[in-house]
Amino acid sequence: MNAMKKGWNKRIILCILAFILCVQPVLAITLDDTKPVEAQLSKEMLKALRQKRVELVAGRTVAASIIKDVQTLQFNIKGTSYKWNSSNKKVAVVSKKGVVRPLQKGTTKITAKKGGKTYACKLTIEEPQLNKTRIRIPVGTVTSIRLTGTNKVVRYSSSNPDVVYVYSNGYIRARKNGIAYVYATVGTMKTYTCKVTVAPDPTPIPTVTPTPVPGTIIIVEPEVIPTQDKYTYVLNSKTKKVHMPDCRYIRTGSHWKYVNWTLDYIIYHENYSYCGHCHPEKYR
Ligand SMILES: [Zn+2]
Repeated sequence: MNAMKKGWNKRIILCILAFILCVQPVLAITLDDTKPVEAQLSKEMLKALRQKRVELVAGRTVAASIIKDVQTLQFNIKGTSYKWNSSNKKVAVVSKKGVVRPLQKGTTKITAKKGGKTYACKLTIEEPQLNKTRIRIPVGTVTSIRLTGTNKVVRYSSSNPDVVYVYSNGYIRARKNGIAYVYATVGTMKTYTCKVTVAPDPTPIPTVTPTPVPGTIIIVEPEVIPTQDKYTYVLNSKTKKVHMPDCRYIRTGSHWKYVNWTLDYIIYHENYSYCGHCHPEKYR
């Protein structure tokens, strides 16, 4: 009777594990660029992302990072009565039960000891910050916003792409007068907002030149080529295809280039061909 009960318990645990494994890929869903990511995830998905679980391995140091005030951390460790310690108690403290409380950004080493075995985790507490929260720019100009203080993937999006168009690397283009909010979402669970007002300058100020972010795409705007077209195009130098900036086949990488050239120049001089999906020729 007891053995049967144990067998059922095992089956229930296996079901729960299978469910967790099934839920993970669902998080990689396609998201709508115009809405902050957190608004698009279900409560269950957000909860799973916020309660980060880290597996500890005897004799090894694993690495983990969490966002302060957003994520909590739990360790997966067999049994109880471990001796827990945090090497930097200003950054994070750990309770007798192994529950981590983040205090400020920085790095600490959390250790659990029992019976001659040591389990360790190098833990980084992140506190991301948006470099700008309010911008006023004139129509036709380009600038950039950047979320610093995190190594996690940051997604940028716009509340109104007709007013402010946002590229995946945080560059923003003012398209027409109005107000739009640019969102930077980190780790798909916390959104930082920058209010962008597109309006003529009350007093002339120097043109904003975007500072290239290392490892991301640089917008190329050669002065020698006259700009006649309304749209900026996106080039893939590997496939030699030209895309509209909102084409869903655009990815990031060093072979992707945002240009403000004319279509004629791109097609006849640079020898690019049209993307079969967004086909820029149709939008001329
Ligand atoms: Zn395309």
